[in-house]
Amino acid sequence: QNHFGNGNYNRYSNGVGRVPVGIGSKRKRIVVTGGAGFVGSHLVDKLIARGDDVIVIDNFFTGRKENVVHLFGNPRFELIRHDVVEPILLEVDQIYHLACPASPALYVCYISCNGFGLAKWGFMVDCAQVQMFYCFWNWLRSLTCDYKTNVMGTLNMLGLAKRIGARFLLTSTSEVYGDPLEHPQKETYWGHVNPIGVRSCYDEGKRTAETLAMDYHRGAGVEVRIARIFNTYGPRMCLDDGRVVSNFVAQAIRKQPMTVYGDGKQTRSFQYVSDLVDGLVALMEGEHVGPFNLGNPGEFTMLELAEVVKETIDPSATIEFKPNTADDPHKRKPDITKAKELLNWEPKISLREGLPRMVNDFRNRILNEDEGKGN
Ligand code: NAD
Ligand code: UDP
Ligand code: UDP
Repeated sequence: QNHFGNGNYNRYSNGVGRVPVGIGSKRKRIVVTGGAGFVGSHLVDKLIARGDDVIVIDNFFTGRKENVVHLFGNPRFELIRHDVVEPILLEVDQIYHLACPASPALYVCYISCNGFGLAKWGFMVDCAQVQMFYCFWNWLRSLTCDYKTNVMGTLNMLGLAKRIGARFLLTSTSEVYGDPLEHPQKETYWGHVNPIGVRSCYDEGKRTAETLAMDYHRGAGVEVRIARIFNTYGPRMCLDDGRVVSNFVAQAIRKQPMTVYGDGKQTRSFQYVSDLVDGLVALMEGEHVGPFNLGNPGEFTMLELAEVVKETIDPSATIEFKPNTADDPHKRKPDITKAKELLNWEPKISLREGLPRMVNDFRNRILNEDEGKGN
């Protein structure tokens, strides 16, 4: 018995069964879960431009219809509001599995509740009780959602891939390396993750998703691809998701101080979204399972990042220090030798080139928000 109360999925498969749908034709049918999100929507644009038929599955947990609204009416594009935690029946050639509440709302909570008098808990001070409750509830909800989506959602998409013989790509993360003891991180590094910490729903969720993918690959012969994505930025990022690039850019535009957590000496490597999308497609189309690090090896401290944002947006921008979150990785930088050699891929856009490309998008959205509030 399966989740549809029936032992044979092929009954539901339009007679296609396990035969790849697009055989004999170059045009592919592709599912992108999380396709209304930041990375997903850019990926969908690329696939549609290439001439593929794309089905987006998204529950709009962190994504937005606005990210794909320009594709409405395009006969090659379809949008399904669906939670990947629930099973789904489709017939496609490839599945890009991105669906995941990618930035734990913990950080959103951390920021919007700033000043509520609970700073020692990492929550803050100048917002109403209702907002505080909402944030806390949202945070709790996101923790279970994160893990559940990563596990149940990935399982369902792998089950789908198995049934229809589709190729499956998992967007895993550099967070599988945790607070790394090896630097830069190679794919061979097993990681240093706190399994019960506040970030573990995400880190361990993705590690489990990788395990599931390899299980289905080895056990059921599913063609699997695994990308380990490093910090990525660009237009359409969620404005208030609490990630550092979106925070600094939005804060500089709003003339608010940029919030540097801890001493700001922790490092990250920032990749522009089009580089990532090129890497994901190269991985999907290539012959190697991975995992592959997809990231830009340029490494910056958060203080250096604030400096670049300041140069790009507003030379008078200021910073303010805030307590850091628990288990924050001290440094992160990808070793991309494997992707260079086997996928013939490497990022092209530096932080100083990429940052200005997201600023207009952020300015317009912040302006629209302000107009919406009657400011
Ligand atoms: P995002 O939040 O913008 O996109 C995720 C999308 O998934 C959203 O549209 C959201 O609504 C959707 N989603 C969440 N839960 C869902 C569910 N249960 N069912 C259906 N849809 C659901 O995040 P993103 O930055 O675009 O990230 C995309 C993927 O890349 C994620 O898997 C993320 O873990 C991975 N990743 C991103 C980064 C980064 O820096 N952006 C880094 C590492 C890994
Ligand atoms: N699944 C799905 N769509 C499909 C096939 C499977 O959503 O077309 C889901 C199904 O609900 C199941 C999961 O994928 O929970 C794993 O499927 P699989 O066949 O591997 O496992 P089983 O159902 O036999 O436990
Ligand atoms: N960070 C910061 N200010 C912010 C948001 C984040 O200094 O307003 C820091 C955070 O502590 C972390 C780094 O920026 O060290 C990257 O955080 P992000 O959430 O963007 O990504 P991740 O930690 O998942 O790599």
